[in-house]
Amino acid sequence: MKKKTFLFSALLLVLILVSVTPASAHFMSSGKHSVDNGEIRWGTFHGSTQWTSARNTAIARWDAEGVINIAGDTSSTIEDLSFTDYSSKDGVLGSWTQFPGADRIRFNNYYFDDMRACERNKTALHEMGHALNLDHNSVAGSVMSVFCKRKPYKNAKEIRELCQPNFYDG
Ligand SMILES: [Zn+2]
Repeated sequence: MKKKTFLFSALLLVLILVSVTPASAHFMSSGKHSVDNGEIRWGTFHGSTQWTSARNTAIARWDAEGVINIAGDTSSTIEDLSFTDYSSKDGVLGSWTQFPGADRIRFNNYYFDDMRACERNKTALHEMGHALNLDHNSVAGSVMSVFCKRKPYKNAKEIRELCQPNFYDG
């Protein structure tokens, strides 16, 4: 619940559906993550999401890795990450952004409304990966791969690709 007192030097907006050159490293730059004191405490500093199942699935799956503790914010912890929604035809299913106070994962209702649960889960897993310092890769089936590269994105075939076997599906 306490607000972080430090400021980030820059905001990193990661748009998962834009064409990007595959990163050579698996991790983003130092400091580009939401991990604080070896854990991520999530809460409602920036608001809340209606996509609680996708949020909870992503949290549980990454937490189960046993590397970074991911748990709800309490009165005695500092919130590191919020989940919120918006609606726009901007071609972005979801994003992770660093902010003073708490970082933010946003889900785009415009697309989420038409997506299946596994598609929403994979998007949430992907954004949580960024919160954990994971960068994009070009590994087939990886939850951190950039899986869609063309517009328009509200396209059944391309969105269906999100449900291909992957990290989450097993
Ligand atoms: Zn991404």
